[in-house]
This record gives sequence, structure tokens and C-alpha cells, in this order.
Amino acid sequence: MGCYRIQLVAIVSFMLLLPNTQGWGEEGHAIVCKIAQARLSTAAAEAVKKLLPKSANNDLSSKCSWADNVRVVFPWSSPLHFADTPDNVCKYKDTRDCLDHKTGTKGRCVVAAITNYTNQLLDYGSETKSKYNLTQSLLFLSHFMGDIHQPLHCGFVSDRGGNDITVHWYKRKQNLHHVWDSSIIETELERFYDDLDDFVDAIQKNITKVWADEVEEWENCSNDDTSCPVPYASESAKDACKWAYEGATEDSVLEDDYFFSRFPIVNLRLAQGGVRLAATLNRIFDTQFAMSV
Ligand SMILES: [Zn+2]
Repeated sequence: MGCYRIQLVAIVSFMLLLPNTQGWGEEGHAIVCKIAQARLSTAAAEAVKKLLPKSANNDLSSKCSWADNVRVVFPWSSPLHFADTPDNVCKYKDTRDCLDHKTGTKGRCVVAAITNYTNQLLDYGSETKSKYNLTQSLLFLSHFMGDIHQPLHCGFVSDRGGNDITVHWYKRKQNLHHVWDSSIIETELERFYDDLDDFVDAIQKNITKVWADEVEEWENCSNDDTSCPVPYASESAKDACKWAYEGATEDSVLEDDYFFSRFPIVNLRLAQGGVRLAATLNRIFDTQFAMSV
């Protein structure tokens, strides 16, 4: 057991050192983290810099898919990436939907994970050393804040959030979940932008112009909570029905009609994910900073 644990620690530590290669699913997470890091307060930016592994070079986006990469070594973390609802129920309900569907264990979903890792990070800066690995807490929180804004991470249980629906993305055979994780974003990159930073710039411009009046509402949590993931899951469940599943059944061919009506939703969700990740990190670390002075 002890030996196994040492090996596990060694593998995870090694993975923290590895540079992440860009691949399927990484762009969306990187965009969320780039938007977030640019909006951090001084205290939060400092804390993130200290918590990131050296190999990240103070670039949160480079480690934003770490949580996906450690699914094999942390099998317990797999159910934490999503919160699916019963079929055709377009609403997330915490008491019903937050569980590991394989074991039935309650509280094992992306919503509870965001609350959990937020609470762990509140240990940052306290006099007694935290029992948690706060680097991992930061990387999990940053990743899950992206996941919860992807509508099909709050899709239906029976098709595993669209993973079991095969469609054609233009000429390519793909599952619907993957279309929303990656294909829409990649088609945007191919058609509209020079690179990922150009894409991020465009979203940031929309945040300061088109969505300027809504941003404060995105950032706020009711009851002065440090994080508030339940409404984010509800929005995703609603979008899953209205936009992701609509017109996309088994063997559907999804082309320009689907792409042009859905990419603005993807962009909005990426923006909200980034703004809310920053707001949450600012609340976490500004509180710690205020307590320490
Ligand atoms: Zn994930």
C-alpha cells in the first residue's frame, strides 16, 4: 500500500511537470483559464503563481486539462467532471443529480467538486499547513469550472451527456459530446481566428462590450457564498436541451446550420466560465489576504 502510494505520488508529480500538448478538448479549457487569469486580483494572481507548478511558467491555461490527464491515476475523480440529469429533464436538481451513477454515491459530481475544491483553497495562507495538496485543488477547480459550463456536462444520464450519440460533424463521424467539447471550437479556430490567443481576444472584447452589462451578474453569488455552482449547472442543463440535443439525434449530419447557431452559445459559456473562475479565485484569495493583514 505504502509503495503503491509512493508510486502514485511519483506519477502525479511527474505529470505536473509534463508540458501539456494541445489536443482534443484542451482548447476550451485553455480559453477559460486564459480569460480567468487575466481577471485576477493582485492577491489571487500572486497565490495562483505560487501554487502553479514551475513547469507552468505562471500560465494557468497550460495546466487546465491536468484533471483530464489524471483520470487514470485518480479513478475516483471521473464522476467529478459532470452532473447529468434524467432524460429530457432540462433542469439540474442538486439532491437528485449530484451522484456517481456507477456506485450511487451522493455528492460525487462537478457541482460538489467545485464547492469542495473552493473550500480546500480557503486553507491557503493559513498558519497551519493544509492537509490538502492546494496545487491540485487549484487545478481541479480551474478545470471543473470549465466543465460545468459545457452544456453536455449536464446532459442526460442514459446517453452519457451525448457520448453515446453518434453524429457527423460535417464529413467526420463524431459523438455529440465531443462536438461540444472540441469540434465547434476547432471549427471556429479554423474559420475565424489565427490562433488560440486571437480567439481569447475576441471573447475578451465581447466581455467588455457586448456582455458588459451582464458580467457583474455572472460574477456574483447569492448569500455571499465563495462559490455558487448550482445555477451554472442549471444553465448548462437548459442549454443542453435547447441547443445541444435539439436537432442532433443518432446519425444526424451537423453542418453550417448547427455550427452558426451554436458557436455563439459555446463562446458565451467559455466567457462565463472564465469570468466566474476569476471571480471565485478572487473571493477565495482576497479573503485569505484580508485575514492575514
Ligand atoms: Zn473534464
